[in-house]
Amino acid sequence: MTSLPIKSGGLGIRKVADIALPAFLASTFGVHDLVNLICPSLDEGTVHLEKEATEIWNELNPSNIPTIPTYQRNWDIINIQRINVNTFTFDSFTEIARLKALQLSESDAWLQAFPSSNIGTLMDNTSFRVCVALRIGSPVCRPYNCICGAQVSVDGRYGLHCGKGSVETFGPWSKEAQDLVHTIGTNLNQISGDSRSKQFLTQRISLAIQRGNAACSLHLQKTVIMRKPRVLIVGAGAAGIAATARLLENGFNDIIVLEAGTRIGGRIHSVNFAGGVAELGAQWCHGEKGNIVNDLVKNLNLLSPSSNSYDDFTFYQSSGKLLSRNVTDKLLKIAFEISYDDGALSNFNGSFGGYFAER
Ligand SMILES: Cc1cc2nc3c(=O)[nH]c(=O)nc-3n(C[C@H](O)[C@H](O)[C@H](O)COP(=O)(O)OP(=O)(O)OC[C@H]3O[C@@H](n4cnc5c(N)ncnc54)[C@H](O)[C@@H]3O)c2cc1C
Repeated sequence: MTSLPIKSGGLGIRKVADIALPAFLASTFGVHDLVNLICPSLDEGTVHLEKEATEIWNELNPSNIPTIPTYQRNWDIINIQRINVNTFTFDSFTEIARLKALQLSESDAWLQAFPSSNIGTLMDNTSFRVCVALRIGSPVCRPYNCICGAQVSVDGRYGLHCGKGSVETFGPWSKEAQDLVHTIGTNLNQISGDSRSKQFLTQRISLAIQRGNAACSLHLQKTVIMRKPRVLIVGAGAAGIAATARLLENGFNDIIVLEAGTRIGGRIHSVNFAGGVAELGAQWCHGEKGNIVNDLVKNLNLLSPSSNSYDDFTFYQSSGKLLSRNVTDKLLKIAFEISYDDGALSNFNGSFGGYFAER
């Protein structure tokens, strides 16, 4: 059904095979006079491949050439009628009713609306998916038990008429509603001076009906396969930020990140220092395999070799002043003695930082 034009109850995603013949034949009929004018010696019907195309058309649609063959639309209408009859012969009255309902003029107005969040004509993805699925008769959900106890099938239509939900329509309006909208729309056209005002009104009402349908179909479902969850992430450290990024990459966009501190990064804490950057927290990328940080930066020439090197330390004072080599070497020696004093370290009750500061 998606390949049917919107006005015929589809989604207008046409098959090239369906429109190729109408397009070609309308063109050839359209250029006959011109071709004869330019090349009077050619017989009629000698446009390249015209004979073959006409034969194929006659096989598909015997004795059915449009009265005005220069319009592609006229060929297309005949083709669509044939596709409709051959493809969509429903045994079930429900499906026949669905197709008939969709072919009424006001049923497709929501698909003609310009989707803009600024003017409220953009449907959210979930509602759009549900409405499209309802329209083309594809599965909306897994089977489940409604809160009223009834078994709901995959077509998701039960929500449109369950007593616990509401009664909605696939799109058609009653005669009274059509007359009312016509009157209001005609007045709007006159007052605004914009002949599209009635059309915009029709589209908005159609969108409201479809949103109502989606809400009815969704809200009764206990197992909604299409709704994406809301996610709350506590902490904007490396783990929280990585989780957020991964979720966003995979299409989850209803995410809230809570951070108790005044900055993101957690124990990774880069600060400006002496015209450069100093790390108050993590600074090593441990491991070259199965390490996402390594994977992210390994080609950016930011990492030095994975072995530890303690030969080229440079120390700065908090003022940013560089310490002399002599002082640096002495400080390093003291730092190593403290760090590798296993006895004192194992007897210390507290963090490594606390131990170091105390020593
Ligand atoms: C000095 C230092 C040096 C380090 N060096 C390295 C190194 O070289 N290489 C290495 O791989 N690792 C190193 N680490 C460890 C590394 O920094 C951590 O493993 C990593 O940053 C942890 O990230 P995380 O997201 O799990 O937690 P954290 O970075 O601790 O982030 C947790 C976040 O959650 C917030 N938070 C906590 N509770 C709540 C709450 N209830 N509500 C809201 N927010 C909350 C915190 O404020 C914080 O921002 C070092 C750590 C330190 C302290």
